[in-house]
Amino acid sequence: MPAKTDWARIRDDFPILQECAHGQPLIYFDNAATTQKPPAVLDALRRYYEHDNANVHRGLHELSTRATEAYEGARERVAEYVGAASASEIVFTRGTTESINLVAQSWGGGFLHRGDVILLTEMEHHSNLVPWQLIAARTGARLRFVPVNDDGTLALDQLDALLTGEVKLFAFTHVSNSLGTINPARELCARARAAGVLTLLDAAQSAGHMPLDVRQIGCDFLAFSGHKMCGPTGIGALYARSEILEQMPPWHGGGEMITSVTLEQSSYKKPPHRFEAGTPNIAGAIGLAAAIEYIEGIGREAIFQHDSQLTSYAMQCLADIPGMRLLGPAGERGAIVGFVRENAHPHDLTTFADQHGLALRGGHHCNQPLMRRFGLPGSTRASFYFYNTREEVERMADILRKAARFFA
Ligand code: PMP
Repeated sequence: MPAKTDWARIRDDFPILQECAHGQPLIYFDNAATTQKPPAVLDALRRYYEHDNANVHRGLHELSTRATEAYEGARERVAEYVGAASASEIVFTRGTTESINLVAQSWGGGFLHRGDVILLTEMEHHSNLVPWQLIAARTGARLRFVPVNDDGTLALDQLDALLTGEVKLFAFTHVSNSLGTINPARELCARARAAGVLTLLDAAQSAGHMPLDVRQIGCDFLAFSGHKMCGPTGIGALYARSEILEQMPPWHGGGEMITSVTLEQSSYKKPPHRFEAGTPNIAGAIGLAAAIEYIEGIGREAIFQHDSQLTSYAMQCLADIPGMRLLGPAGERGAIVGFVRENAHPHDLTTFADQHGLALRGGHHCNQPLMRRFGLPGSTRASFYFYNTREEVERMADILRKAARFFA
C-alpha cells in the first residue's frame, strides 16, 4: 500500500497560503486561474539564472551547453509526463492559448479548405474557440458545436451525427473550467478517430490534476499551461503526434527555426524547433520540469483523489445554503465548483468573498457562449488544489452563508 500522503507538510511548501487578504486569513480558491508555486520551482529558476544562464542552441561555450541541456532535458521531462513517444513531439509555447493558436494557424492554415468543419463544444474556453474562428474566416472552414446538456455534460448522443465527412478536427476541453465536467477524452478520441477525424485535447484544467497519457487517450494534439500546475507563467506545451507535426508548416519565423536562409527564402528545421522561433522561455521550461517533478513526487492519482474529495465536500457544504445554485454535473468532476445565487451578481458575490479573505473568481470565465447557454451573466467559481483543506471549504461555506443573508 502506498504511504499516506502528508498533505499538511505539502501545504507548508506554500507560505503564500499564510498571507492575509483584507486583514483576514487568505483562502486561495482560484487555482483554475493559476496555482501557487512551491520552493522547488522557484529554486530551479534561481539556480538556472545564477549558474547556467545563457542562450540555447547556438552557443559554443560551456554555459550555453548547460542551458541547452537543461532546456532540452525539460522537453524530455514534459514528453514523459504526458506519455509522448518522443521529446520531438513536444513544442514549448507560452501556454494552452498559444498551443491552440499554433495548431489553428499552422495545421489549420496548411490543411483546412472551404467547406471543411472544425467540431468544438459549447463549453470551450475562448482560447479553444477564438483561434478557430480566426482560421475559419481565413480558410472558409466552418465551426460546429457539440451541445451541452442542462446537467453540464456534453450531448454525446449527438456526437456521431455531428462527425460527418466534412469534419477535419474535433477540439474539446478535458475538464470544463466553469462547470468542472470531466469529458470522457478517451471515448471521444476513439469515436472521432473511427470517423477519420483528428483530435485536440485542451488539458489546461487536467494536466496538473490527474493522470494523463496521450497514447492511452489517443489524441493527436494536447495543449496545457505550466502556471496551472505549479509552474511559472509564460510556459506551456503542445503535444502533437509526430506524423502530423512533421507535415505542419512553420507559423512564426525567425532565428532558431531555420536550417538555411537566403535573402529570398529559407528552409526550416524539423519539429519541434521548427515551431520555436526566437529565444525561447528557457527558465520557464526549466521551471515547468521542476513543477512536474514536484507533482510526480506527490503523485497525480493522489492529487486527483484529494481534489475529488475536497470538491464533493464543497458541493455538499454549499448545497444547503439558501438561494445557492450549483452548476455542472452532480457526479465526478474536476476540482471546480461553479455557482450562482439569486439576488447577487457574480461580481458582487466574489467581491463580498474577497472582503472576507476568500479568493474566488467571478464573471464569464472566458466561457461567454456557455454562460449564454445557461442564461447567466456569469458565475462564481471556487477551484481547488492539493494544498487546500476541508477547513478552508468550511470557512468558504460560512462566508457564503453570510453572503446569503447580505444579499437576501
Ligand atoms: N482552456 C481552459 C479550459 C482553461 O481553463 C484555460 C485557462 N483559464 C485556458 C484554456 C487558457 O489557458 P492559458 O491562459 O494558460 O493559455
